Amino acid sequence: MKASQATEFYFQQAAEQLGLTDSMRKLLLTPKREVIVQVAFETDTGEVQTHLGYRVQHNNSRGPMKGGLRYHPEVDIDEVRSLASLMTWKTAVVNIPYGGAKGGISVDPKSLSRKEIERMTRAFVDGIHDIIGPDTDIPAPDMGTSFEEMSWIRNQWEKYHGFNPAVITGKPVEEYGAKGREEATGRGVGILTLKSLKRMGMRAESCRTAIQGFGNVGSHAAKFLHEATLPIVAVSDISGCYYNPDGLDIPAVLRHLLDRGSLNGYRAAELLPADDLLTLDVDVLIPAALGGVIHEGNVDKIKAKLIIEAANGPTLPSADAALREAGVTVLPDILVNAGGVTVSYFEWVQNRQHYRWSLDRVRQELDRTLSDAFEQVWQESVAREIDLRTAAFVLAIARVKRATELAGLTS
Ligand code: GLU
Repeated sequence: MKASQATEFYFQQAAEQLGLTDSMRKLLLTPKREVIVQVAFETDTGEVQTHLGYRVQHNNSRGPMKGGLRYHPEVDIDEVRSLASLMTWKTAVVNIPYGGAKGGISVDPKSLSRKEIERMTRAFVDGIHDIIGPDTDIPAPDMGTSFEEMSWIRNQWEKYHGFNPAVITGKPVEEYGAKGREEATGRGVGILTLKSLKRMGMRAESCRTAIQGFGNVGSHAAKFLHEATLPIVAVSDISGCYYNPDGLDIPAVLRHLLDRGSLNGYRAAELLPADDLLTLDVDVLIPAALGGVIHEGNVDKIKAKLIIEAANGPTLPSADAALREAGVTVLPDILVNAGGVTVSYFEWVQNRQHYRWSLDRVRQELDRTLSDAFEQVWQESVAREIDLRTAAFVLAIARVKRATELAGLTS
């Protein structure tokens, strides 16, 4: 099974629990709208490059659709469709008033200059400007995009529609962005890791932790957890896995990342092949990179007792079942990485009110939102005697179903 099919598989597991009819399942699974546009722009050497841009708007029964834009060579309609539905369940599980969407361009941004990325981004907005908006569909950063792209998107969109920074979130803090948005996903991962450990009766100071991926999410999670005294024994990116069984000096790793832009060349650790990170002898494993990394081929070698899914869709269903049988606790992506979209919501609220929150307020509200969702998911799992992923999907699907029924389409 491909990573892009996993979301539907998990949906069906939970739909079974809820006793959903086939017609309701079909309604909840079918995206509202899918758009594919040509994204053509001039390169620095004067040639024309053409790529495909996608926006899938999955569901808006709980509010405007919300989700990131990914620039990555593996972006295709199947991946975007599955990630769009994941956003519907994510916003529902943390109970923020949004639906779900996702988009992106199938391109390797590392092959382009910043100017080329700007021209490409503006061409993409030309193709989708009339289907996004503060009350309809609000994009945000995802893999391969950051606050800079969000700024260009806002600027290009406003050329068509006039001033309204709430059309996009993840903007620079100086330009209507929210304080704490950049750290939000990683911070949320950290908050939920601590909550899970506490619930499992494990002491943070003695939980050896490995984090796969050291981008925005992995690095902020590492910083937060290091400050919370968790020994981070391994981190990785495409350059390799950096391992120190006594615990890495995370502030030094972060400084290296700031100076060099990647982990490449970090010397104060043993260098292992990147994939070895997943099977190290650790207590907590945090996949914070691509989807589909925990699969049939490696699941038997995983030693962690707790997996915190910081990436979207890191565990394939066959591996998920094997982990359950082995008694490994898996805290699912739709809860774990919801900190990003939660602070996006706070940014959107601030934009609409023309009011700025302090960093403390953002952090407090993030903590409260995620903690409430965590408690609800945990209770659902205990009450129904089901795993945490199915419990999170049950909660989310029930909320979307209820909103759909209240809107009057079904009886
Ligand atoms: N791309 C992030 C996610 O997958 C954030 C989405 C948002 O802030 O709207 O959740």
